[in-house]
Amino acid sequence: MALAERRVALVTGAARGIGAATARRLAADGLAVAVLDLDETAIKSTVDAITGAGGTAVGIGADVADREQVETAVARVESELGPPTVLVNNAGVLRDNLIFKMTDDDWDTVLGVHLRGAFLVTRAVQAHMVAAKWGRIVNLSSTSALGNRGQVNYSAAKAGMQGFTKTLAIELGRYNVTANAVAPGFIVTDMTAATAARMGIDFETMKKAGAEQIAVRRVGQPEDVAHTISFLASEGASFVSGQVIYVAGGPQAGI
Ligand code: NAP
Repeated sequence: MALAERRVALVTGAARGIGAATARRLAADGLAVAVLDLDETAIKSTVDAITGAGGTAVGIGADVADREQVETAVARVESELGPPTVLVNNAGVLRDNLIFKMTDDDWDTVLGVHLRGAFLVTRAVQAHMVAAKWGRIVNLSSTSALGNRGQVNYSAAKAGMQGFTKTLAIELGRYNVTANAVAPGFIVTDMTAATAARMGIDFETMKKAGAEQIAVRRVGQPEDVAHTISFLASEGASFVSGQVIYVAGGPQAGI
């Protein structure tokens, strides 16, 4: 595809984990990818992996919860790669605690990164999608949206991502823009490794115990989620919108 025709994707939280795998996958699919994360140095390895494999990527340091940084970042994507028309709202943090111990800051940080972050980035990027009359938005939800002990902040944010997604699908569908959510289960990343460490559980033991609870008898890898996102971002997925796809190795109780 000629450079001018190449679609441009913006992936947030793409320095590592699911975001990095998604950035690499979209680049392998032929898109130019903006790899956004908090620290521009940390995202260099994702950018290098993409460019080393012959893809196109730029690294952009920004906090998704900061409006000025988001607007500057999206302007940079446009000037360095072209107008972004694929957006993956992936940046995320955990501040787990039972409600009686949860601080205001635990609540505000998690809602701020996931919901305010997705709102700010989507508001800035959708203008380019509407202008192009084409767009794909994929938001990261989680099986925790269905409820999970110790995650009242995170489960509220991830359930919120589902409502956010469905409303985007309704508002932007007339511009040929789709919006969908992926809701991963247990995926092996630094985030789940940190959860194991915080709980004082050996990560290998946690993965083994987790696999026994999953229908396909294994835990997920970042590439499992990236594959689903690649489908939702593809040209052929234009009639799939407002959906939540659980990428969890089996059906979830409660839905
Ligand atoms: P991860 O390995 O912790 O990666 C998340 C990335 O987001 C990190 O590079 C982090 O940067 C970045 N980030 C955090 N706050 C940010 C901000 N304000 N602005 C920009 N970037 C920010 O997590 P992951 O496991 O890949 O998770 C990715 C997404 O999937 C998250 O939304 C998560 O909630 C969701 N998810 C994960 C799982 C799972 O099992 N892993 C399951 C369901 C859903 P720093 O490292 O600098 O903080």
